[in-house]
Amino acid sequence: MNKKAVLVVISGPAGTGKGTVVKELVSRGAAEISISATTRAPRGQEQNGIEYHFLTKEKFESMIAEDGFLEYAQYCGNYYGSPKAPVDKWLSEGKNVILEIEVEGYKKIRAKRPDCIGVFIMPPSVEELEKRLRGRNTETEEQIQKRLARANEEMQLSELYNYVVVNDTVQECADRIEDIFKKETSN
Ligand code: ADP
Ligand code: 5GP
Repeated sequence: MNKKAVLVVISGPAGTGKGTVVKELVSRGAAEISISATTRAPRGQEQNGIEYHFLTKEKFESMIAEDGFLEYAQYCGNYYGSPKAPVDKWLSEGKNVILEIEVEGYKKIRAKRPDCIGVFIMPPSVEELEKRLRGRNTETEEQIQKRLARANEEMQLSELYNYVVVNDTVQECADRIEDIFKKETSN
């Protein structure tokens, strides 16, 4: 019999460091990461099939029609969705899976998979969040403003999550999330 595996949903405002912390968790072998599909354009060095599957709106909508997503949502004008097949395969093999998605997607997953674990990553402060988002240097001013406005809305919904973790340093934040994995898989 496979060991108990958990589906962990990680959310948090843009720029809080979710991607950085998730990479660290994957490099520690703590979980598999679900590669989402999106209709937004690649940013910086992003590659198709690595950070995201970059799809046209038409292709994304045909995957919706084929019921290919565990969930999907719109965020700042683009579609984002989690392909269903790899997630189910990993869980059936006893592997933990991380979905790094925004809050609306989390609400949908929670309704379908009530045993999923929600982890909300908070920035140490709003000032530090803006600094990280700007420091990444990958968005236009208009996109930064949209994301900061959405960040405020999202932080108010952190109470929907099982755990709230502050990303002060990447190592400490990843340590705390690893402890959550250990606790939840031993239940
Ligand atoms: P998100 O995926 O939440 O949008 P990123 O992982 O892209 O955020 O991180 C945004 C920026 O903040 C990046 O430039 C990243 O290197 C930096 N960053 C992430 N975590 C930390 C941290 N703990 N301390 C300082 N900078 C960080
Ligand atoms: P970004 O454009 O910065 O990569 O992502 C924007 C937001 O979309 C982030 O909050 C990220 O977590 C979320 N996101 C990424 N993939 C998915 C997905 O498959 N589904 C949903 N609902 N949100 C996603």
